[in-house]
Amino acid sequence: EHMGGHLSTRLKGLDDALCGGIPFGVLTELVGPAGIGKTQFCLKLALLASLPPSCGGVDGRVIYIDVESKFSSTRMIEIGAKSFPEVFRTKGMAQEMAGRILVLRPTSLSEFSESLQQIKISLLQNQVKLLIIDSMAALVSGENVQGATRQHLLGWHISFIKSLAEFSRIPIVVTNQVRSQNHDEVCQYYFQAHRRERIVENHSGYDSHLVAALGIHWAHAVTIRLVLDAKSGKRFIKLAKSPVSPPLAFPFNITSSGISL
Ligand code: ATP
Ligand code: MG
Repeated sequence: EHMGGHLSTRLKGLDDALCGGIPFGVLTELVGPAGIGKTQFCLKLALLASLPPSCGGVDGRVIYIDVESKFSSTRMIEIGAKSFPEVFRTKGMAQEMAGRILVLRPTSLSEFSESLQQIKISLLQNQVKLLIIDSMAALVSGENVQGATRQHLLGWHISFIKSLAEFSRIPIVVTNQVRSQNHDEVCQYYFQAHRRERIVENHSGYDSHLVAALGIHWAHAVTIRLVLDAKSGKRFIKLAKSPVSPPLAFPFNITSSGISL
């Protein structure tokens, strides 16, 4: 029923701009500096994918690629209990929700692709409704080949991830950290990803680390790009790339009940 559908973020303005939420069957990237809320966003999405439809979830399972050991089921349950107290009052609900998240910690992109290839078919049968990779750059840093071989290998894995989204028709949400704290610079950088080399050469504020790690192939593989950043002490989420919406920015907060607009 969710073929070509959307996973609601429960962030009203963002859902509206995305025609319902994070689309199934494509890659969505969350990018922003350390501590901005990328993992908090992922925890909320994992929760929403596993919740029953009666509270806006899609009653699914989630594969969470937790490269840097930042997944916390305790925090996910806290977000759930604060946002849906009536649901989480049911005995065993917290364990049931946590049990729906399969947390994997591959040490390289090759290890990731290998394990996902093995469970590719069962992705469909096991009602997986979301795949999260937190973070892609950290996963890529586990590859220790260099030069042209590295670019070739990276290209293969990026194509694999993209085809996995299309084949399984689930949303794949991927995070990436950028070092720049400047909202405009980060957004401009991502708008102009196709001119990346020139930008990196000319502006020291851009994150050449991410560009070097993922390259141009990645920038094009992503269908939706959400840039999270802070300016004047306020957090913003910017829809920086979307086939259905012009660039839009929404202020957001993080509280005990998770991310909210
Ligand atoms: P990194 O790139 O380092 O992984 P990130 O973008 O994933 O960073 P998160 O871990 O998602 O960042 O966000 C951390 C922030 O979330 C904290 O700095 C804090 O502001 C907020 N936060 C986390 N838990 C809570 C909570 N229980 N109540 C309020 N705010 C919280
Ligand atoms: Mg994180």
